[in-house]
Amino acid sequence: MQDSVEKVKIVTLGCAKNEVDSEEIAGVLLEAGYSIDGAAKKSAVTVINTCGFLEASKAESIQAIKDAVREKRAGRTGRVIVAGCLAQRLGPELMKLAPGADLYVGVGQMGRFAEIVKEVQAEREQRIDVTPPHHRWAEVQTRARTGRPWSAYLKISEGCDHRCTFCTIPSFRGGHQSKPIERIIQEANHLARTGAKELNLIAQDVTQYGFDLYKEFTLPKLLKELNKVEGIEWIRLLYFYPNRLTDEVIETMANCEKVVPYIDIPLQHAHPETLRRMKRPWDGERYLGLFEKVRKAMPECAIRTTYIVGFPGETQEEFDYLIDFVKASHLDRVGAFVFSKEPGTPAHDLEGQLAPRVKRERYDKIMRVQQQISLAVNQGWVGREMDVLIEDSRDGWLVGRSHRDAPEIDGMVFVQGEAEPGQIVRTKVTGAEEYDLYAELLRMPVSGGKKLKPLRQAMPALPL
Ligand code: SF4
Repeated sequence: MQDSVEKVKIVTLGCAKNEVDSEEIAGVLLEAGYSIDGAAKKSAVTVINTCGFLEASKAESIQAIKDAVREKRAGRTGRVIVAGCLAQRLGPELMKLAPGADLYVGVGQMGRFAEIVKEVQAEREQRIDVTPPHHRWAEVQTRARTGRPWSAYLKISEGCDHRCTFCTIPSFRGGHQSKPIERIIQEANHLARTGAKELNLIAQDVTQYGFDLYKEFTLPKLLKELNKVEGIEWIRLLYFYPNRLTDEVIETMANCEKVVPYIDIPLQHAHPETLRRMKRPWDGERYLGLFEKVRKAMPECAIRTTYIVGFPGETQEEFDYLIDFVKASHLDRVGAFVFSKEPGTPAHDLEGQLAPRVKRERYDKIMRVQQQISLAVNQGWVGREMDVLIEDSRDGWLVGRSHRDAPEIDGMVFVQGEAEPGQIVRTKVTGAEEYDLYAELLRMPVSGGKKLKPLRQAMPALPL
């Protein structure tokens, strides 16, 4: 019985940033003597860490709250706390859409979760606490990681200072707030000591890092410091903002051997007029110039972007321009979203909203065009060598990721040979598909790791 009193179930929805928030909440609660079990059948408290980015994520979060409230009524959980972006975004409206939880609390409260849970257990009244976000960074040592030990997300800042007209994030995550550099280094060391080889630095805009704290953009300095952290072998950055990907940032990335040549830079569009309506900088011409610089400094750099198709007022000409840009930029990877009218954003009320059918057709077209490009870029790797971080095995193949593949986002490399999960091995690429590559293992781990077993001779069937 004592066990169930102390047990907290945490349900996480949404992106990697939410995953980190949940790990911080879990760590704080573990320190305070609670036990954490994401699959608990009975718990004292259930925390739903919601996502409020798009209408689809909102529906998923509301369903999760309703499920938890049902569990509470059935006596399988004592209290329900709704946390995160959707609570911050909707506030009292969420209490009406998904009633019955005991507390609705916004973002940036991870460090306070022990108090929050205690208060909720002591109170009878339903409550809401979504004051504007003020991020209190949780203690580094208390983060309870749930993912694979060799790959960790490290949040370097919160919020965003840009005001893209389609985006809800600044309205509930607040303005940009950087985590102090010494705290990030401390966290990186802690993650390395607990097994991380790959650090995935996350922020709405990594290029903005440091300005609020140090009155200058400090990403280059941060990268040079992180590059010294012992045990870390790959440092990956997610996400760049185009007009701050400066020569200094590019040069620093190229010179820090642990920073992988990988750029995820959501451009959203390429036509100057569409970008103006989105309140986004530059245009296709300047983006091409930027990619030229990046590729010159880092010839193996993988570049990924995302576009929004069917933005209000997007003419056929603007869309055709985007398609031409997709062909000319020849990026490794492209994702696309169909424009979604998000309440509370300026784009919601813009004139020239497009019919769902047109948006869908444009989405299909852009994805079709990119498929050929992704395949061609992947085929360009056949015969070349690359390092692969092994994570799994499937149907006789090792499954891993190269510098070109961010976790949970990009493709995979299927490797013929034997190695342990968590090892980084040298491979030679033997085959390519649109998303994934095939490779054979060449030699022992690039560094660290246990001894490899000998290469297998027989070529197993492709894992399709
Ligand atoms: S930069 Fe990204 S997070 Fe910031 S407002 Fe634009 S789309 Fe939203």
